[in-house]
Amino acid sequence: MQLEEVERHAEEAYPRECCGCLLGTREGDRWLVQRVVRTRNLLESSREDRYQMDPADRFRAEELARKSGEAVVGFYHSHPDHEVYFSQTDLQSSEEFLLGEPWLPPTYAYLVMSVIEGKRRQQGAFVVKDGKSHPLELRIE
Ligand SMILES: [Zn+2]
Repeated sequence: MQLEEVERHAEEAYPRECCGCLLGTREGDRWLVQRVVRTRNLLESSREDRYQMDPADRFRAEELARKSGEAVVGFYHSHPDHEVYFSQTDLQSSEEFLLGEPWLPPTYAYLVMSVIEGKRRQQGAFVVKDGKSHPLELRIE
C-alpha cells in the first residue's frame, strides 16, 4: 500500500523532513495515487517546514511516470513533531506559487504526513486554489 510507503519514509527521515513525488492519474477533481517515489530533500537539515526536492530525483520520477502512462500528480512531505496543516511556507513553495499562477485551477495534490516523536500520526492532503490551500480527498492505492 502506497500510503505505508509515505509513512515509512517519514518515520525513517525523522526528525528530519522527507519529501517525494506522488504518481498516478487525475480526472478533474479526482486524484488517484498509485505509486510513491522518494526524492532527496536538499534542505533536510532545515527545521522550518522547508523542503526542496532534488531536481535529479524529480526528473527521474517524471520519467518513471511517463514510461508507465502515469503522471506526477502531486508531492508529499513530512511534518516532524508538527500536526497536519498546509503552512504558509508550504503555500509559497507550492508549484502553483512558484509558477506565479496560484489562481489557476489546482495542478498538484500535496500530501502532508505528521510524525510525532518518530511515529506517524496522521496525514492530510491539500490543493492550492485561488491562492489558498484547500483540503483534498486524496485516494491512495
Ligand atoms: Zn509543510
